[in-house]
Amino acid sequence: MIGSFTFENLPCRVVFGSGMLGSAKAEVERLGGKRALVLTTPQQEAQGRSLGAALGSLYAGIFSGATMHTPVEVTERALAAMKACEADCVVSLGGGSTTGLGKALALRTGINQLCIPTTYAGSEMTPIVGQTENGLKTTVRDAAILPETVIYDVDLTLTLPASLAVTSGINAIAHAVEALYARDTNPVTSLMAEEGIRALARTLPAIAARSDDREARTEALYGAWLCGVCLGTVGMALHHKLCHTLGGTFDLPHAETHTIVLPHALAYNAPAVPEPMARISRAIGAADAPQGLFELAKRLGAKTALRDIGMPGSGIDKAADLAVTNAYWNPRPLERGAIRDLIARAWAGEPPA
Ligand code: NAD
Repeated sequence: MIGSFTFENLPCRVVFGSGMLGSAKAEVERLGGKRALVLTTPQQEAQGRSLGAALGSLYAGIFSGATMHTPVEVTERALAAMKACEADCVVSLGGGSTTGLGKALALRTGINQLCIPTTYAGSEMTPIVGQTENGLKTTVRDAAILPETVIYDVDLTLTLPASLAVTSGINAIAHAVEALYARDTNPVTSLMAEEGIRALARTLPAIAARSDDREARTEALYGAWLCGVCLGTVGMALHHKLCHTLGGTFDLPHAETHTIVLPHALAYNAPAVPEPMARISRAIGAADAPQGLFELAKRLGAKTALRDIGMPGSGIDKAADLAVTNAYWNPRPLERGAIRDLIARAWAGEPPA
């Protein structure tokens, strides 16, 4: 039965397909941009420079210092670079870290963003940016943060190593999983969520087996887009809160943390959300959703223990405390003891329970 709901379509233009990077210049023009600053990480600078060449007379310069967790000091350096080259728009080419830098600039200046994602993180579909200052990560939500235009070009994702594609893909699945049981869930977002999970669960094994499987990479990117829309349109719960806390406190890698925590957070919430659980099971083709996601990650060679990605065992209690400190909505009430057990299992790499 369909009850009452609110659905807000976020205003973002999406251009999808192989070779679509070639339309970057036209898309900058469409935004009214005359001087574009290209943003990348140091690892993707060469890719950024060739994009700059393709932008021709619209290319104002490059800032290749984007890094994880959007540190404010990096944003300030990028702001200075933006002013120095008199840029009137930014083109962010990369994963969530690069997208985050473009968003931080837009938050401060209102500048237009063309975003060209090369991972499955989904940040390009959200009006949210998490920024780090003095070791503390805070999240801001503002309409100015949402990129105006996004180009999804599968060709750029072909260089994403299969191991990163797997964890980034499960990071995307996590957005859709929590969207299905969000407090403000709605039938349209749920459609996208189920389809996004299905597309990624179907294609990640193919990518892990053959990293240059273009058809699988295309469908995975499509799934990542849908999951990103879910993240941008409804609120998240325990899983995202845990990953945010663990990532920020112990400086853990983003996609890997999501991959490890997801089956456990889902098992915690499972008793409270039977219908979403049935949809997730259907989408991944498993009888039990948390177990199915745990086995998927394991089968595809992803790490399944927080201790293997740098979390100290002494941090389990601190993480449990932080997870229940600032009250937030979750379908199952937050019980410290059960959350501590969940984190301990994720730390040791045990199956979800
Ligand atoms: P990332 O952007 O940090 O990328 C990881 C590494 O992979 C980088 O060195 C990058 O240059 C490289 N890389 C990216 N794409 C590549 C490709 N196609 N080929 C080769 N190398 C490539 O990782 P991520 O997981 O995409 O993003 C994580 C960050 O995004 C975190 O800081 C997270 O908080 C943020 N995030 C924010 C939101 C939001 O809505 N605000 C959503 C998701 C993620």
